[in-house]
Amino acid sequence: MERNPDSLWQNCLDVIKSRVPDQTYETWFKPIKPVDFDNEKLTVQVPSQFFYEWIENHYKDLLTNTLEKVSGNGVQLVYSVVVSNEELPEGSVQSSTQGASRSSPPSKSFLNDRYTFENFVEGDNNQFARAAALAVAQAPGGTSFNPLVLYGGVGLGKTHLAQAIGNKSLEEGVTRRVLYTSSEKFTLEFINSIKNNKTTEFSEQYRNVDLLIVDDIQFFQKKESTQEQFFHTFNALYQAGKQVVLTSDRPPKELSGMEERLLSRFHAGLIADIQPPDLETRIAILQHKAQEDNIEISYDILEFLAANITSNVRELEGSLIRLLAFSSLSNTDITIDLAKKVLKEVVGKNFRSAVSIEDIQGITGDVMDVSESDIIGKGRKMEVALARQVAMYLSRELTGSSLKTIGLHFGGRDHSTVVHACKVIEEKLEKDETLRSQVKSVRHKIEMSQL
Ligand code: ADP
Ligand code: MG
Repeated sequence: MERNPDSLWQNCLDVIKSRVPDQTYETWFKPIKPVDFDNEKLTVQVPSQFFYEWIENHYKDLLTNTLEKVSGNGVQLVYSVVVSNEELPEGSVQSSTQGASRSSPPSKSFLNDRYTFENFVEGDNNQFARAAALAVAQAPGGTSFNPLVLYGGVGLGKTHLAQAIGNKSLEEGVTRRVLYTSSEKFTLEFINSIKNNKTTEFSEQYRNVDLLIVDDIQFFQKKESTQEQFFHTFNALYQAGKQVVLTSDRPPKELSGMEERLLSRFHAGLIADIQPPDLETRIAILQHKAQEDNIEISYDILEFLAANITSNVRELEGSLIRLLAFSSLSNTDITIDLAKKVLKEVVGKNFRSAVSIEDIQGITGDVMDVSESDIIGKGRKMEVALARQVAMYLSRELTGSSLKTIGLHFGGRDHSTVVHACKVIEEKLEKDETLRSQVKSVRHKIEMSQL
């Protein structure tokens, strides 16, 4: 085999590219540079420690398996992390805390100090965005994530995370002058500055910072002269090694009416998405809020709220606040009934109909010819175990109960047993025709029972 790191790595990339989403490929694989190959070890260079840790944690198997497949033998992957100072653009980290910024005292940042990393609950949905935000907060302008663009639906934590970057970098002293603004405010101020002949002051205000955060850039769409102005601001900051953080309610490529050169700038940095939180994360967020506000509230009620408010963290928070208000105004305890009342107001009437785990166990037992007590019991016979796993899987799919609760309903099993059951059934459903039709029939009967 030829000892060429480039061609070996290129072969790996070809495989990887077909296995991961484009965005992932662009972000995590394209920046990796092959540097050496000696038949036993392939050495690759990655841009930062954070980068290395991220791929080790998330793509280790993919990388080792691909390398094994491509090289045909046990070639080992070795990383080298770039630490050269050239990677740090001028004026970043070190110099921004001294030098130039000393002459101009920090002006108002417009940050809200309630948005911190400490009170941002991490889940699978936001893990990547949070990690990238943290890396930027620790070394604004000093990572390849410039600009950092956070995008995601309404109420999912974009503003929270973007401001947390500002707050943390100030707190850690890695930056002095942070400016948070929204694209609307930027636009308004720009228009006013033209009206009042103050465009110079306007651009100075924005260019004289170490970290600029612009929230909701989707409002820049179709505003040509503002975009132009923003482009210049952006370039000035970028060239001076300053950090820019942007948020958007949609992926940048869907920002119609946004100039091509701006979009390509965004793509030169890192684009990270925030997805809606899953049930466990929603429960964790509520627990966190309850704890923050010293509210005693039972797990069942939190779970009930989390199961029914699915797409927006702001509404989730709102439901908790409302529940408190209700209970203190009417001087009643916080109960499930009260929670139902509050929910009706928050999400309208159509919260999840109440198919219970018991219903699912009963119907699954009927269809698969296993008694309900066997499903809950300890028996390990194959048919019994399979029916149990199907019932767990459907409970997960249909009730919105947490893994913990589902486990409890199955004779006090652990949540990891439920996770395992779901995985087994998902895999079997792909291959096993009989099981597929059984599960379909259980689902159908459950639906009928809800009418
Ligand atoms: P967006 O800007 O995406 O519309 P926000 O950042 O304003 O959303 O978030 C809405 C509310 O939900 C805020 O009060 C925020 O603190 C809270 N929030 C969102 N995500 C989280 C999270 N992961 N952990 C804790 N609070 C969160
Ligand atoms: Mg926002």
